[in-house]
Amino acid sequence: MRQYYTSGATRPYAFRRQQLLALKKAVQQYEQAIYAALHADLKKSAEECWVTENGFFLAELNDTVKHLEQWMEPEALPTNLLNLPASSKVIREPLGVVLIIGPWNYPLQLLFTPLLGAIAAGNCVVLKPSEFAPATAEVMQQIIESVFPKEYVWFVKGDGATVIPEMMRGFRFDHVFYTGSTSVGKLIYQMAAEQLVPVTLELGGKSPCVVESDANIEIAAKRIVMTKFSNAGQMCVAPDYILVHRSQKEALVHALRKRIVQYFGELPEHCDNYGKIINTKQFDRIVAYLSQGKLLHGGRNDREQLFIEPALLDDVKTDSPVMRDEIFGPVLPLIMFETMEEALQIIAQNPNPLAFYVFTASVKKETAWLEAVPAGGACVNNASWHLTNPSLPFGGRGNSGIGAYHGKNSFETFSHRKSVMKTPTWFDPALKYPPLKGKLKIFKWIIR
Ligand code: NAD
Repeated sequence: MRQYYTSGATRPYAFRRQQLLALKKAVQQYEQAIYAALHADLKKSAEECWVTENGFFLAELNDTVKHLEQWMEPEALPTNLLNLPASSKVIREPLGVVLIIGPWNYPLQLLFTPLLGAIAAGNCVVLKPSEFAPATAEVMQQIIESVFPKEYVWFVKGDGATVIPEMMRGFRFDHVFYTGSTSVGKLIYQMAAEQLVPVTLELGGKSPCVVESDANIEIAAKRIVMTKFSNAGQMCVAPDYILVHRSQKEALVHALRKRIVQYFGELPEHCDNYGKIINTKQFDRIVAYLSQGKLLHGGRNDREQLFIEPALLDDVKTDSPVMRDEIFGPVLPLIMFETMEEALQIIAQNPNPLAFYVFTASVKKETAWLEAVPAGGACVNNASWHLTNPSLPFGGRGNSGIGAYHGKNSFETFSHRKSVMKTPTWFDPALKYPPLKGKLKIFKWIIR
């Protein structure tokens, strides 16, 4: 791969564009196989796949193809007085051979969307899918191997804890792009540090969702239920818990219940729109949360079917595991607050979440909340949808990650910004050169 990269084959615009279009065609050709695989791994419907997996990916791909030539243009920048009449620009150059590591919850989107950025920026790529979504990994491997030679994009399956340290210690990648849990993210960061390899870490978090006293409760309930229970709650930006103003608690619980039944039926285990938990390890972890509060709704479960009914949880203790861990499942605790300070204290237990949501009708409150809660991203009167706009950089901060991607940001993530200054030879004042004695006054005028 290193040799192939060094040959320069991956750098021309025409090559990058051609690879993106070939990948698009293959993903389109494998559409039915993708639906079957995502159904087998996570019981996703074709509609959900289109919005969150293959359709999402294809939309990003189209956006990348449309803008790539423009993104690759050198960027002219002003030159300061000291250096005039030189000219200055930034050239984006590829990083080299990069490693992209994906999780299991959106196994296609979260491996292939960063791949777009890496190809667009002219890199060679090693792709490592999660071992816990094996059907999707199989289809993705077929797609990649049908389009790319191994020296350009290499698909590597296997147990992450074995395969990734082997690769990262046996080879120096030029960048590692990792999506997954914060705990494994720390291991990746450590291994990368050994060889001073830069990283992008897209990690988890405990994203709070505030419902203010003046919120439109019907809208809040619709939007919260849709994203919280999509993919059975196994979404990095799902609202993790709700902080509801005391005055709205009853109305909100009523509206949430109504929407859960409307969207997923009385028996969500039979609903096409409702997913399953990925494996028994995750199932056991999530089911344990159900007893850490009072159930207001749902919570029935079946280990054999990996089914957990959407659950609303009341009376949770802020120091219990359900309020310390990222839930990453269909359990939604509700905590009442009276003052903003009270709510902020609870949020501060898990600082720097991947996302923050606030439902309010007041611009003043909206601004106050957005200023008060540092987070990777945020939505006002919505949840999770910010990540579907490729113009917005998507990423965390602190515990929820380092760096960002989507749209042009993906291209930037996989490019190095090389600063170039070009100085003409026709002008070469003696002032710049020694002897310097006596020039302090003019230096002070130029550099000020
Ligand atoms: P995970 O950390 O278990 O696995 C992610 C990847 O790391 C897999 O490819 C796996 O093979 C590899 N891996 C596992 N153990 C490893 C080890 N010891 N050394 C090296 N590599 C190892 O994460 P997951 O359970 O697949 O995903 C769930 C987590 O990911 C949640 O915390 C979720 O919030 C987060 N997530 C974040 C985003 C985001 O965009 N920020 C998106 C999806 C998921």
